[in-house]
This record gives sequence, C-alpha cells and structure tokens, in this order.
Amino acid sequence: MEIGTVVTTHANGDHCWGNELLPRAEVIGSSACGHGMAHEVQPAELAALSGPGSPATPLGDYMRRHFGAFDFEGITVTPPTRTFSGQLDLTLGNRRVEVIEVGPAHTDGDVIVHVPDVGVVFAGDILFIGGHPIMWTGPIRNWIIACDRIAETGADLIVPGHGPITDQAGVSVFRGYLEWVAGWAQEAYAAGMPYWEAGAPERVPAAYARWGNPERLVITMAAAYRELGDAPHELLDVLAKVAAAEPA
Ligand SMILES: [Zn+2]
Repeated sequence: MEIGTVVTTHANGDHCWGNELLPRAEVIGSSACGHGMAHEVQPAELAALSGPGSPATPLGDYMRRHFGAFDFEGITVTPPTRTFSGQLDLTLGNRRVEVIEVGPAHTDGDVIVHVPDVGVVFAGDILFIGGHPIMWTGPIRNWIIACDRIAETGADLIVPGHGPITDQAGVSVFRGYLEWVAGWAQEAYAAGMPYWEAGAPERVPAAYARWGNPERLVITMAAAYRELGDAPHELLDVLAKVAAAEPA
C-alpha cells in the first residue's frame, strides 16, 4: 500500500526527518512547523554534536549517549508540501480526519490529529507518557490548553509522541505535570533561582519521580523563564546544563 498523506506533527527531527522517503506523499503540517524545520538544528549539526568527532566535554558525552547510535547521513530535511493554520479537515478514503494546530507549545507549530469515527487522537509531542517532556518554546499555558483540546475530542485512545498509548486519564496526569511546571517556574523565578537549579531532578515532585529523563526539565525551565522575562538562552548553554543534570 502506498502512503498518500503524511502529517508532520512538529519540526523536531525525530518526527519529520524521513519525510524525504515519501516523495509522492502529500506532507501536511502547520505553517509554523514548516518554518521551524528550516531553523531547527540540522542533521549535519546534530551529527557533529553527537558523532565520533564530537567534543570531549560532559555535553559531548551526553549527546553521544543519547544520539550517537543514530546515523544522520543522507537526510534531506523535507518540509510540509501543504501547510495550514488553525484546523484542516480532510477526508482520506471515506474517513474524516481533523488536523488541529495547538502550538506554539512544545514547539512553534504543534498539531494533533483527531480521527473521530474511531475515537483516536495522535498527539505528537503534546504528550509524553512515562517520561519528562521538553518544552522548547511554550507558552506553557498554551500547552495546557492543548491538553484540554484533546479532552474535548472525547477520544479514548490517545497516541503520544513518546511512550505507550494512553487514554484521557493519561492526558489528565500529564496536564497536571504542566500545571506543576507553570506554578513552580513562577515561584522559582520570583525567588531568583537560576533555571537550571529550578530544573534539577531533585525538584521533581514525588508524583513524577519515576518518569524518565528528568534532566529535560532544565530545557523546560529555560523556556518557562523566558516566558517570565528572562533573556533568551543559548541552546548549547542550556544543553550543557541538561548534561550536568542527568542522573548518573
Ligand atoms: Zn519527539
């Protein structure tokens, strides 16, 4: 069976590098996603940060551990061929599919896909199940609203961007995490705590203590602090703090 339609949920490489392997498909994404794909870290840059020649630093160690197993050769970053803003209603075969823009939240151009007749939502990275999410852009409030949008669909089979398939209860737990992030960021920022201390794994409440990759909270806090008025942070500086925060 030939794949005729692809939805790119957002511009992160783990969700869109590979579009070039479907040259005849229509690739749908938000306008902001298309823009983001051109401005994200590119495959050759990620290879330089995580490949055999990457720097002998704690950040290099971290990048090699997490990305060193992947081959970034031969990827042609391929943006959506059909972009939209807001909502796009499609009929694929005889099935109705709603592509709903909910970003900026995790990234600038996040979309989710709702398939009403079977009660399914493909949430992309609006949902991470069993692991800490990364907020690259925010605002966090928009991300919480995106969770509410998933709830409004009434779908009971929800496919996250990372982790196992979940249901509305899983969405609700994740929404609670985002509420915690929003409140904690405000409190820590007001107290003058640096973002990497606010994002340290020991700050994670017991309810989320078993979630994987707690060091990602450092990135989320950097974004939350920006929202609260902090100057933008250099990506490599933030990643160096992430590497330092990773539990042994
Ligand atoms: Zn992802």
